[in-house]
Amino acid sequence: MPVKPFPEPIYVTRPLLVDLEEVHQALGELWRSQWLTNNGAKHRQLEQELSGVLKVPALSLFANGTIALMAAVRSLELQGEVITTPFTFPATTHVLAWQNIRPVFCDIDENTLTIDPARIRNLITDRTSGILGVHVYGMPCNVKAIRRIADEHHLKVVYDAAHAFGTEIAGTGIGNFGDISMFSFHATKLFHTLEGGALAFPSPGRKEQIDLLRNFGIKNEEEVLLPGINGKMNEFQAAVGILNLRHLDAERKKRARIVGAYQRNLSGMPGIRIMTVPEGTVDSLQYFVIRIQEAFGASRDDVYESMKQYNVFTRKYFYPLTSDYPCYRKLPSADPVLLPMARKAAREVLCLPLYGDLAPDSVDAICEMIGSLARP
Ligand SMILES: *Cc1c(COP(=O)(O)O)cnc(C)c1O
Repeated sequence: MPVKPFPEPIYVTRPLLVDLEEVHQALGELWRSQWLTNNGAKHRQLEQELSGVLKVPALSLFANGTIALMAAVRSLELQGEVITTPFTFPATTHVLAWQNIRPVFCDIDENTLTIDPARIRNLITDRTSGILGVHVYGMPCNVKAIRRIADEHHLKVVYDAAHAFGTEIAGTGIGNFGDISMFSFHATKLFHTLEGGALAFPSPGRKEQIDLLRNFGIKNEEEVLLPGINGKMNEFQAAVGILNLRHLDAERKKRARIVGAYQRNLSGMPGIRIMTVPEGTVDSLQYFVIRIQEAFGASRDDVYESMKQYNVFTRKYFYPLTSDYPCYRKLPSADPVLLPMARKAAREVLCLPLYGDLAPDSVDAICEMIGSLARP
């Protein structure tokens, strides 16, 4: 081995952890207030701060991203069939199945790895009620083309923006596209509330109904208006979120430097393709992903396995495709022949370590390790 293995394991991410003293202080405030959940002061503050950070007119916090996405599907009254991408985390597809909606898998764009608008039209039937796209790795879907198709066919558009916290297209926050967008604040996401999530929507009028769905449909002590669920974010989660927000810019700056170091080291390496957001798009810096192609000689799986010898634990986000899970693979749209680009991507992608405290010379070493595995 040309480079020495790391003495300690390097994982793909590390959660943002603020100083424990700050957490103690926030907890003290909670204990004194005796208000632990149900739209407390921290909750209201975080909701307000986040709508500013994400540049959206309205937003509702949730206990986690998955339950937020379920509420979005309910709010838009999706049913029958929803056209979606198989190149994603299980939650995206499961949310549809959980509400008895049939996922209809659509292949992805070869460059952005997001749902391919050119293939959506052919999948529309009289049972189609919506499109569920994923801004995978914070790479925006083709929001304009998707909006055009949706308007033509009277379909609703939901985005899983779990990776897209802070993503902007030409200065517009990503949560302004589509009817509703879901953000995840899980501990592994750049901005987190331990567990948590939010829905953002361009029309503020939607908030009242979403907030009802989040809290059992309770309007007041005597009126329950609709079959809601318990999706509330508690005060401790919100307090951690408020603290994490204060460290967000610093974390993003550090991550941007790390991404720059990866790009310098890896660009021009034959068979390595780097995923980058298009010009004019602000990168969420959630993941750093490469695609290992034929010219590299070694396969993605070879690299994934070999890196473990160096104590580097990369991730194959997203392999397998959700359409290959036993619960979905019998669906007609899950036929691998219909999803060539998604299959190719699932074979090629490798997510490399990215977190603020990753030392720049560790990035150089990781790239040297990858380079040593090439078999041109
Ligand atoms: C993390 C993630 C989710 C789920 O979010 P939770 O907050 O963990 O429920 C959904 N979709 C994608 C693409 C994700 O990465």
